[in-house]
Amino acid sequence: MEKTKITIVGVGIIGLAIAAELSKECNDIVLIEKNYSFGQETSSRNSEVIHAGIYYPRDSLKARLCVEGKELLYKYCEKHNIGNKRMGKLIVAANANEVNKLEILFKHGIENGVTDLTLLSGEEIKKLEPHIRAVAAIHSPSTGIMDSHGLMKNFVLESKKRDVLIAYATELEGVEKHKDGFKVSVRDEREGSFVFLTEIFINAAGLYSDKVAEMAGINKKEYALKYCKGNYFRVHNNKAGFITHLIYPVPSEHSVSLGIHTALDLAGGLRLGPDAEYVDKIDYNVDESKKEAFYESTKCFLPFIELQDLGPDMAGIRAKLQGQGEDVRDFLIKNESDNDLAGFINLIGIDSPGLTCCLSIAKKVKELVKDFF
Ligand SMILES: Cc1cc2nc3c(=O)[nH]c(=O)nc-3n(C[C@H](O)[C@H](O)[C@H](O)COP(=O)(O)OP(=O)(O)OC[C@H]3O[C@@H](n4cnc5c(N)ncnc54)[C@H](O)[C@@H]3O)c2cc1C
Repeated sequence: MEKTKITIVGVGIIGLAIAAELSKECNDIVLIEKNYSFGQETSSRNSEVIHAGIYYPRDSLKARLCVEGKELLYKYCEKHNIGNKRMGKLIVAANANEVNKLEILFKHGIENGVTDLTLLSGEEIKKLEPHIRAVAAIHSPSTGIMDSHGLMKNFVLESKKRDVLIAYATELEGVEKHKDGFKVSVRDEREGSFVFLTEIFINAAGLYSDKVAEMAGINKKEYALKYCKGNYFRVHNNKAGFITHLIYPVPSEHSVSLGIHTALDLAGGLRLGPDAEYVDKIDYNVDESKKEAFYESTKCFLPFIELQDLGPDMAGIRAKLQGQGEDVRDFLIKNESDNDLAGFINLIGIDSPGLTCCLSIAKKVKELVKDFF
């Protein structure tokens, strides 16, 4: 049976960042992807925001990897000429009732290591963003946007240069423990089914990562993913020029998302979104009936946007460990040695800020597998 050192399932931003990092140490890596190209799922259905690390629970992986990953990502983008813009963001209190929550969030962000935050008064906001309505705001200058497709393309090029094999149209069908590592069963669209051995197996299968863990016999309730859909509406009629920062509301308590906000892109377009709705199946159609709700939830702080400016754009689905009404859950990134599967690395529940964290997650995975080199 053929044998490879490292197998990664999933050619989204996470699998690719890991491949690019590990290929610096090892030139025997295979990436498996069921789709015909890279980044066809969550990694191309998001806001493309480089988050600062403000919101996440203190000392969580999300908080630590975001603060570290943000700087790594800006540096990587600069080095490889990948589009990015450190445009800054305002989290706005639309009325006096929200100011207390805003101040708590500000303190929390600083404690998370986002040390460049400042609090702005209504007057100061007017100078920065004359078209929005807010009585106070947190200014986060290190938040920005980036070209996620360009980043993934660069990871692909970097990996291929170091002899990483990327097998598209190849679906993982099974993975089981073997005396020499793991036996991997895949189905290739042209060649049919085949089996090979791998010493290290990395599960970066996004929305399906809990199912991949199950294939290896890890059937734990706390690994079960919930799908949380986010729709976006495009803002037409040249309204993008009304703002120069990303504008976010104060998130509500126990929220599963950051609240419907503005998403500016590098091409100068403006979207509103994403909302958050738990769903049973993966369906990327935008529910147009939500248009009014999007308008209603943002008109208090974005008064320049009118209902007729909005049109359906796209949707993405978050791979969440946190169920409806439950507390926030952290990324699950671990070597499953305690489940008698040393060398099986699970990455489950990589929802936002996964894009921002891709390089710091890759570094963490490298740390987990270093004893195998
Ligand atoms: C609406 C929304 C907005 C977001 N906004 C942001 C943001 O602004 N900033 C930020 O930092 N993060 C954001 N995120 C989070 C970010 O997009 C994700 O964390 C990240 O894209 C996850 O990447 P991934 O590689 O884990 O998953 P994916 O991109 O889904 O990749 C997983 C891959 O695994 C493949 N796969 C699965 N099962 C198999 C199998 N059996 N065989 C072969 N291949 C398989 C899939 O086809 C897929 O290509 C957002 C997410 C959503 C949904």
